Amino acid sequence: MTRSSNLGFPRVGLHRELKKALEAYWKGTADAPALHQVARDLRARHWLLQRDAGIEVIPSNDFSLYDHILDTSVLVGAIPPRFADIANADQLYFAMARGTDTAPAMEMTKWFDTNYHFIVPELHSGQTFTLNADKPLAHYREAKALGIASRPVLVGPVTYLSLAKAKDEGLNTLDLLDALLPVYADLLAQLAAEGADWVQIDEPVLVLDLTDKQKAAFARAYDVLGKAGPKLLLTTYFGALRDNTELAATLPVAGLHIDLVRAPEQLDAVLAALPADKTLSLGVVDGRNIWRSDLDKAFGTISRVWDKVGPDRLEIAPSCSLLHTPVDLDAETTLDGELKSWLAFGKQKLAEVNALTIALQVGKTAAKAAFDASAAAVAAHKASPRIHKPGVKARAGETIALDRVSPFPARRDQQRARFNLPAYPTTTIGSFPQTQEVREARAAFKKGALDQAGYDAFLEAETQKAVRIQEEIGIDVLVHGEFERNDMVEYFGEQLDGFAFTKNGWVQSYGSRCVKPPVIYGDVSRPTAMTVRWSAYAASLTDRPMKGMLTGPVTILQWSFVRVDQPRSQTCRQIGLAIRDEVLDLEAAGIGIIQIDEPALREGLPLRKSDWDAYLRWAVDCFRLSASGVADDTQIHTHMCYAEFNDIMPAIAEMDADVISIETSRSDMELLEAFRDFKYPNEIGPGVWDIHSPRVPSQSDMVALVHKAAEGIAADQLWVNPDCGLKTRGWPEVQASLTNLVHAAHTLRGQ
Ligand code: GLN
Ligand code: ZN
Repeated sequence: MTRSSNLGFPRVGLHRELKKALEAYWKGTADAPALHQVARDLRARHWLLQRDAGIEVIPSNDFSLYDHILDTSVLVGAIPPRFADIANADQLYFAMARGTDTAPAMEMTKWFDTNYHFIVPELHSGQTFTLNADKPLAHYREAKALGIASRPVLVGPVTYLSLAKAKDEGLNTLDLLDALLPVYADLLAQLAAEGADWVQIDEPVLVLDLTDKQKAAFARAYDVLGKAGPKLLLTTYFGALRDNTELAATLPVAGLHIDLVRAPEQLDAVLAALPADKTLSLGVVDGRNIWRSDLDKAFGTISRVWDKVGPDRLEIAPSCSLLHTPVDLDAETTLDGELKSWLAFGKQKLAEVNALTIALQVGKTAAKAAFDASAAAVAAHKASPRIHKPGVKARAGETIALDRVSPFPARRDQQRARFNLPAYPTTTIGSFPQTQEVREARAAFKKGALDQAGYDAFLEAETQKAVRIQEEIGIDVLVHGEFERNDMVEYFGEQLDGFAFTKNGWVQSYGSRCVKPPVIYGDVSRPTAMTVRWSAYAASLTDRPMKGMLTGPVTILQWSFVRVDQPRSQTCRQIGLAIRDEVLDLEAAGIGIIQIDEPALREGLPLRKSDWDAYLRWAVDCFRLSASGVADDTQIHTHMCYAEFNDIMPAIAEMDADVISIETSRSDMELLEAFRDFKYPNEIGPGVWDIHSPRVPSQSDMVALVHKAAEGIAADQLWVNPDCGLKTRGWPEVQASLTNLVHAAHTLRGQ
């Protein structure tokens, strides 16, 4: 019989219980048993929630105290040598995640195209692996004690090795497969002995472009693991299998999961390739977004599959682990009913999976209430005037020139004449320290304890202080400090039409860190100017140029839950128009330098290279749309954090910002190579101060970095600035570091 299943549940808890327990443990205000008790309670609560939602196949070992890839490193005994002498298991685990005084943390990077970050495994030539099966076995038993025969979740060996970093030159981590497989085989046998008849084995790299070596690794791995004991559900998500369809469908495992939300188009190819004895798990409920499913549509898809493969080999599931969704919409007490009726969080998504499964098992009438509610919400959503604004749509349909009036060289001359900046001009990236007082004032204002006038007076005083300090230090292009902003996307979302905010819509970003992305539900427009008040106020305090600060359309899009009823490119264009209007208002208010931050442009790149160009085309065009309305002597800056700039090189140049600041100090300017190789023509501010560390860089450190940058980039293209915004730093380090930075620029000017 067709079964309902889940692939993974959010770990942190509805009220971020795990975050609080972790942070108390790290601070030393709670001990390890207290932390583990919170974790155990969360697991139990989540298992029971899934069971109560009607889910028949419930995962275990999806929970993690920090990250499931880090868990896998511990599971297979891949402990980097610098941590090898830590005997206590908890201390070892968190040392790997967060570092110690003597051993830096393991690196962290983004999990595919999500905003979840995993701890990158470090592997050496001749690496050996040993099984430490405690966690998956213990969690299996915990679920069993609650009467739940769970399906353990493992990260597959090919994905694990593919995501790992080779610590020795010449090592291909896939060469370690034969050393790793016995550990997996042993674990699978132990899980089978515990009673697990199925194990979910996640191999999301199957949706990427694979090398021949990776393909061969898949064949070799599952030749061994397919026989190791339990039936394996090979799980893929975040995209289509495409050229890997045949490979994935024919590996000697019992089942295959595919993502039909991200990649509905792959269904026919998978059906054609799937051997007649295999279970197929259909990911039809979106695990990456917060929209309610169209159950009739999903039912259409799954019944079509049912007709082909019959009822006994099917599972109905979310598209991927629910790790990427908030826990429970019921906890949203301040969203209006209409908006709420369009949404589904983790718990609601499981109810959708359940309704679809029941409809298959016994007929649609048995899940009538769920289908009716879905149909009503879908119809209301489609027709709602809150979503569709003819004026916004019409404007987005108009052709607007994306080029600036003149090409860069002509603009540069006009800007130089206007601003008369020295060589190696100095500036910062925007934010100044968000101190305790700044956060307390904002909280008091939000609670109503501080009135608008009082809050404004507070912000004015902070802004004044920041302007005075920058003047005293001698920065050339000032910023107002962004004291009025909570977050670089939320601040704009709160002022734009078409955005909504949740109270509890937290999603894990890394470890104990969670983000609460805004929800873009409707056509986006800007009712009124968003930043002019603070930029103009700051400009009035000084004779030096004041830089206006905006978040770019791609970054606003990328860090939100985005509507799915129109292409992302279209939503991005609407945001681009709103930012364009803001840019023009700033310009009209006399702000001659305007920065449009796009730190998320690189992370929006699709998983497959063949899709990159299409994305970059519209992403770059949306940025240009936001920036191109100004006069030649208005200087447009952009900013990007740490990224593989190589991947997006012609695109960065096509953005045609007059000045780009980037994060480069930790890479020792290596990241500049992309700009050098491309002969990037516009001005660049490579970061010379690693703002992620409390360390104050010396003047000579920074001079040396600029010298490095100047190898291959003309001196008159270079700016001197920190890597990123300073909101997480304290004032004393900021003042000391900026003083050194300005002295470094003076030294460079004298050379
Ligand atoms: N202007 C923003 C700041 O300074 C940029 C932050 C970012 O790039 N992430 O905080
Ligand atoms: Zn940055």
